[in-house]
Amino acid sequence: MRKKDYYAVLGVSRDADTETIKRSYRRLALQYHPDKNPGNKEAEERFKEISEAYEVLSDPDKRRQYDLFGNVGGAQSTGRDPFSQMVEEVFESFFGGGRQTRRPTAIAGEDIRITIELNLEEIARGTSREVEYLRQETCERCEGTGSADGMRPRTCSKCGGSGQVAYRVGGGFFQQIVYQECPECRGMGFEILHPCVACRGTGVLPKKHIRTVEIPPGSMGGMTLSLRGAGHQGPWGGPPGDLLLEIIEKSHPVFLREGENLIYEAWVSYPDLVLGSTLEVPTLTGESLSIRIEPGTPSGEVYRIPGKGLPRYGSRKKGDLLIQVHVWVPRKLDKSEKELLEEIRKHKAFSPTAKRPEKGFFHRLKEFFLGQTR
Ligand SMILES: [Zn+2]
Ligand SMILES: [Zn+2]
Repeated sequence: MRKKDYYAVLGVSRDADTETIKRSYRRLALQYHPDKNPGNKEAEERFKEISEAYEVLSDPDKRRQYDLFGNVGGAQSTGRDPFSQMVEEVFESFFGGGRQTRRPTAIAGEDIRITIELNLEEIARGTSREVEYLRQETCERCEGTGSADGMRPRTCSKCGGSGQVAYRVGGGFFQQIVYQECPECRGMGFEILHPCVACRGTGVLPKKHIRTVEIPPGSMGGMTLSLRGAGHQGPWGGPPGDLLLEIIEKSHPVFLREGENLIYEAWVSYPDLVLGSTLEVPTLTGESLSIRIEPGTPSGEVYRIPGKGLPRYGSRKKGDLLIQVHVWVPRKLDKSEKELLEEIRKHKAFSPTAKRPEKGFFHRLKEFFLGQTR
């Protein structure tokens, strides 16, 4: 038998690693494949040579034997077709899906959940956050195959890929079939002959990931925003899961949120309500609004400022700012202040009359939420 230099056939150096050999084989095999060169005897011969060289050099044991003795017994007779396997890998890496075969299908990666706490200011204008998390990513050492030899995992021979094995329990009439996790593949349905030492056969490794996420205006506590494909990558080249951002809303010291509307409670002196005044109202954007309080405004009155609430999520529309005024009642008074109030008390104008029933605080506020406008 003519002694062949397998390294020369694949065009790699003698100390080339498995990856280099694999890459070179892929390139040459695609070039000389008989399907691409119909009737070309030379290409066919070359293709056989390439396949033979790869079969030996991709197998650590055979490669060692070849390096020592210059040949490998039975290299051509294994009946293995490395190319069909490789073609599928190439197809998969190019087209994502691959052909339907009995070979293990990739498992989708899991979602990653992250909670993001936002205050109303951030919700109002939208914000971006730098988030840090561990993400399962393709193992570089085995290119996600999980195998030290670069071969993809194969269907578990014990369970046929189902991940379960059936046992017969009991006897005769009471015989039952019980399914249990396959002990060979631990329920995965695949077996890897030479697991990659870095990822222990899973094809993925956790890596620290820092990413800036954009949170559009108008988000709400309890909402989950999802970034498709930013979750864990699946074992053996499986599609990635999603990154899920769970919004938590911090309570605001000044404003109360009611959907896209904001409620602001203002405390106003009794004379201001009776004689009229101007009220300064803060907003989430920092500007301040002036509200005219007409003389004779009842406590509990609600003002609606359209468009000064929160933006509606995914829309250009904005909610309203509702301002409810309450009369401020001082807790402590000195002597002269008391005398002043005693004087007021004597006047009939300051006593409630049955003629003008006032609506309660809640009633007034409720009117707004029921969509009634004044
Ligand atoms: Zn199994
Ligand atoms: Zn690996």
